[in-house]
Amino acid sequence: MKSTKENIEKSVENLRETLVDFVQQIVRTPSLPNDEHTVQELIANKLKTLETEVDVFPCQFEQLKDHPAFCDDGFSPDKRIDVVGRWRGNGNGRSLILNGHVDVVPTGDETLWDDSPWSGAVKDGRIYGRGSCDMKAGLSSGIFAMEALKKLNYKPDGEILFESVVGEESGGAGTLAAIERGYSADGAVILEPTSLHLSPIQSGALTFRLTVTGKATHAAMKWDGINAIEKSSMLQAAITDLEKLRHEEQTHGFYEDPNRIAPINLGTIHGGEWHSTVPGEVVVEGRFGVFPGESIDDARKALEKAITEAALNDPWMKENPPVVEWFEGQFESGETPVDHPLIETLGNCHKLVTGNSTKIRGVTYGSDLRLFTNHGKMPAVLYGPGDVSLAHAANEYVEIEEVITATKVIALMIVHWCGGSFK
Ligand SMILES: [Zn+2]
Repeated sequence: MKSTKENIEKSVENLRETLVDFVQQIVRTPSLPNDEHTVQELIANKLKTLETEVDVFPCQFEQLKDHPAFCDDGFSPDKRIDVVGRWRGNGNGRSLILNGHVDVVPTGDETLWDDSPWSGAVKDGRIYGRGSCDMKAGLSSGIFAMEALKKLNYKPDGEILFESVVGEESGGAGTLAAIERGYSADGAVILEPTSLHLSPIQSGALTFRLTVTGKATHAAMKWDGINAIEKSSMLQAAITDLEKLRHEEQTHGFYEDPNRIAPINLGTIHGGEWHSTVPGEVVVEGRFGVFPGESIDDARKALEKAITEAALNDPWMKENPPVVEWFEGQFESGETPVDHPLIETLGNCHKLVTGNSTKIRGVTYGSDLRLFTNHGKMPAVLYGPGDVSLAHAANEYVEIEEVITATKVIALMIVHWCGGSFK
């Protein structure tokens, strides 16, 4: 008699072509933020063929706007829908959420792509196109893991909730809407591209604006004015020092490089009006990394303190202090303990299918994981096919073999986590 693992592997292999077709189809359906409707309908229809109970609901910003984790991405909520497929169990096992987002980032300069960004082309064992890696392949591996189990007449003990959400790239409104609608489980696997590593830890990121005031005057009378560009460069140096100091003071064992956990990026700088005028104001905008375990408040205070202290060293800035503001994306860090059974079970399933142990890694980018761990009060982990470094680039692709492996691992994970029988 064949083992459960062998049966699952065979069942997934039987679906290989259908799975690749499905990924191609949803890659060919563009789903930029605010335009996720069409692809969500495709996914809802697919979930209906699996006889799951399908809930399609609008992602209403009106209902979310007072939530502390809500980030308004500025797009109209009218046509934005989440899709959840519920596969009921008998209530005797642990429940599991499989989560993925359908929104993709813009294509960038299309001339850098070999094919159309929406080609969904299959070449050399890869599927190409915007969203192939981040994360329509991962999303598909969750759906086809359920289909492979359905074909084996699997009946789960604990229920499985498949969540296809909008708005992840621009703040996480879709997953937040699903949490607020009451969807909850004993664990969540977010099928983001991790190259099949386990990522239960993510840094946070806060967008900030720093305004430095000087005094404008004719350049010939420079000594009568205050040059805001020169003043701001003192603060920029303080920010670079702070990034280094924070990585000396705080660390985390699960990041590949202890100096690359919570980056501080100065993204834009605007100042000055004319080459022969002393600039009267500089505005710097950037992204401030939050360490796992660090609160948003503590992170904000760290930047504000460094700016205040640097300003005190300068007579002008002491009297005319620079202003720090926090705006737009304010993403917390998130973490599930690495010894949690969810992580252990998924790691075991990965090893059973591939023969290799997977690495546990913290990631420096934001994802919906924080919403599950901090607000849904659920353990969560990122695990899925695709290399995140390809995610927002031209010629984005995903390796088909990795998608197949992920599908097998997720199917096995469902059985090991939720329990159940094949009858
Ligand atoms: Zn993603």
